Amino acid sequence: MLKHKHLDHQFVRHMPDKLSPGILYISMEYATASHLCCCGCGEEVVTPFAPAQWKMTFDGDAVSLHPSVGNWLLKCRSHYVLREGRVVDAGSWSDAEIAAGILRDGRARAEMFDPPARMVAHAPAPANASTQKRSAWARFTAWLSGR
Ligand SMILES: [Zn+2]
Repeated sequence: MLKHKHLDHQFVRHMPDKLSPGILYISMEYATASHLCCCGCGEEVVTPFAPAQWKMTFDGDAVSLHPSVGNWLLKCRSHYVLREGRVVDAGSWSDAEIAAGILRDGRARAEMFDPPARMVAHAPAPANASTQKRSAWARFTAWLSGR
């Protein structure tokens, strides 16, 4: 059951310490939005904007979020879609859907943040990099002291 059927949007620079229910706070600077779960449980839901995460659209009047907001990590397990400011119940999650969602989320994030293996193979080993840095620093300090 959703307590809030509508979310007003508020563009902010920084997220306020205390969120008010029924408001979607949007920070373009940090490419993220936060709101209190629409079921009324009071949990904060953060939806970062990224190709593998959420996409926000603003039609000049109301805000939509895609894909749905699935709070499977919260006790309430609420699941809804924000479409032009309206909160549409998307049905609660079954255990199988939660498992699939977590898997999809994890895979999308892994693709985003882990460079492909071949890039890693060509990168200098960390130990090497630090020796190089140290020797450059040693050369620099030697130059500074005129030796
Ligand atoms: Zn909730």
